[in-house]
Amino acid sequence: MSSKIGLKHIHAIAPYVGGRPISEVAREYGLDESKIVKLASNENPLGMPKSAREAMLKAASDLGRYPDSNGFELKKVLSERLGVPADWITLGNGSNDILELSARAVAQTGDDIIFSRHAFAVYPLASQAVGARAIEVEPTDSYGHDLSAMLSAVKASGDKAKLVFVANPNNPTGSYLKSQEIEDFLIAVPPHVVVVLDEAYNEYLTPEQRYDAIAWVKRFPNMILSRSFSKAYGLAGLRIGYGVAQPALTDLLNRIRQPFNVNSLAQAAAIAAFQDLEFLQQGYDLNRAGFKQLTAAFDELGLTYLPSAGNFVLVKVGDDDDSGAQMNLSLLKRGIIVRPVGNYGLPQWLRISIGLPEENAAFINALREILTTK
Ligand SMILES: *Cc1c(COP(=O)(O)O)cnc(C)c1O
Repeated sequence: MSSKIGLKHIHAIAPYVGGRPISEVAREYGLDESKIVKLASNENPLGMPKSAREAMLKAASDLGRYPDSNGFELKKVLSERLGVPADWITLGNGSNDILELSARAVAQTGDDIIFSRHAFAVYPLASQAVGARAIEVEPTDSYGHDLSAMLSAVKASGDKAKLVFVANPNNPTGSYLKSQEIEDFLIAVPPHVVVVLDEAYNEYLTPEQRYDAIAWVKRFPNMILSRSFSKAYGLAGLRIGYGVAQPALTDLLNRIRQPFNVNSLAQAAAIAAFQDLEFLQQGYDLNRAGFKQLTAAFDELGLTYLPSAGNFVLVKVGDDDDSGAQMNLSLLKRGIIVRPVGNYGLPQWLRISIGLPEENAAFINALREILTTK
């Protein structure tokens, strides 16, 4: 390609690498698709809730029309439950959309965007796409966010600092920040810097871990809370998420979003899923049990893992810089898809999404087999 075409900062972007699709792995390794277990993208192992599927199919009869650009019905249910007016809510084509809109609304070439090392892969992508400098802050003593180091980075970057991404829980490490730490951070961050609190896994927090992020949105005009329907609500394929922020900031996001960024099927399914508290509870319970199942096996096999607050576990599968890649390959050959995290600076680890009991068991069996026949 001609080196003259395309912006320099766009050429510098390393494209996102997702979990391998089942059909692709089946083709490559000559496996039966139906026997493949995918624990690679933190999807809900229960799939889409039945309630959402029905609502979606009903909405399908009207697909000749454009979606509701303002998502009136969905914002109404969100607004009632969250306790904020509808004009504090931005719907996104996945919460990924909210992350990108946030970057586009407040940062450009010459600005700085700050986030933690080993944080979600979309943060560097969203930062680089707007030409901003992505500052990755190394956590000092753990795999979680070091908010005091991040605050120092924000202050060091001065007027150039425009945006901070904080994920709680974080993906891929599963680390969790206590509410007091986040609140202290929000108080200390200069008011010209927007803080995106990414809560894609919020619904998996235990009752003791929960906190009131909406109260912070009401208190801090520079905060955007980001939530997803892809994980606990089981709607990853439909692409829908939302942001909550005060009206001034919401108005900025609204100006730059695509007019029809969230399709009608997604809106209808999200309304149903959001109200399906039984489904949410079922997924939560399944996740707790799956975490125990996986980590009991890791303990037995002598593998180190991180205490995850999400629906996945990060496990260390060796001490070499290709340990994760090697183990990933061995698992793929046995029809198990997990996520190597070398691109997150964690080449000795694998991220395992928590699946159904039988999926977890299939993964554990393959892992044990690989480790004992080495
Ligand atoms: C999965 C994930 C998201 C976004 O998912 P969407 O499908 O775009 O809603 C956002 N943040 C983190 C940390 C995630 O892991």
